[in-house]
Amino acid sequence: MRKALVAGNWKMNGRIAKNDELVTTVLAGLAEQALTERVDVMVFPPSIYVGQVESLVRGSNVSVGAQNLCEYKDGAYTGELSAGMLVDSGCTAVLVGHSERRALFGDDDARVAAKVKAALDAGLTPVLCLGESLEERDAEKTLAVVTEQFETAVDALDVSEIARIVLAYEPVWAIGTGRTATPEQAQEVHAHLRGLLASRSRELANKVRVLYGGSVNADNAAALFGQPDIDGGLIGGASLKAKDFLTICHAAG
Ligand code: PEP
Repeated sequence: MRKALVAGNWKMNGRIAKNDELVTTVLAGLAEQALTERVDVMVFPPSIYVGQVESLVRGSNVSVGAQNLCEYKDGAYTGELSAGMLVDSGCTAVLVGHSERRALFGDDDARVAAKVKAALDAGLTPVLCLGESLEERDAEKTLAVVTEQFETAVDALDVSEIARIVLAYEPVWAIGTGRTATPEQAQEVHAHLRGLLASRSRELANKVRVLYGGSVNADNAAALFGQPDIDGGLIGGASLKAKDFLTICHAAG
């Protein structure tokens, strides 16, 4: 049985005082309801705040990740952060291929694959984000698009490496738009991704967690997480509100 996972992607939001308040409130709520016994919880603050958040969550069951990494090892890459630096700062996971990185910062499928590999080699859990645009959905290309994104990202990996990945299906048209995929729409894609994993190994399909992301909120989380192949969520906007994030964690447990 896969343990549910709820991950908060803060995007480019936060300040030291706000982060402190948000994390402290979330930790208190999680402890009060003993939620981390049933749900794994991760937070992905902006990298400059990873150290701050890591010291706040230390000793709890909440883990910290980064929103991006460089595919190269240390060296002359001004402004970038290597996988080794993320580990050194207390990260255990990293988002790879988020649609904002794909659309705004040139993270194509080849670079995403290189970043997944760099993360794995450093011992990080890559949370690999996949999803179609509205035009692609309207043209009924959703399954073909996510297949291509998945296959390119894992092509060079062996089964034991793929087993360490978390997948996040995030339809681009649902991210930050307030428009959510219906539970049935999401389940169809999740089942397809599970099938792609199964075609490599049955064990992989049973083990790898597939999260849904795209305007998940306190009201719609339970219906989404009730689907058989949805193992939790990658939460953007709602992860910045402690009460909503806790309700979402509760819905996953
Ligand atoms: C995200 O940033 O991964 C995301 C799903 O955002 P939101 O929940 O705000 O749509």
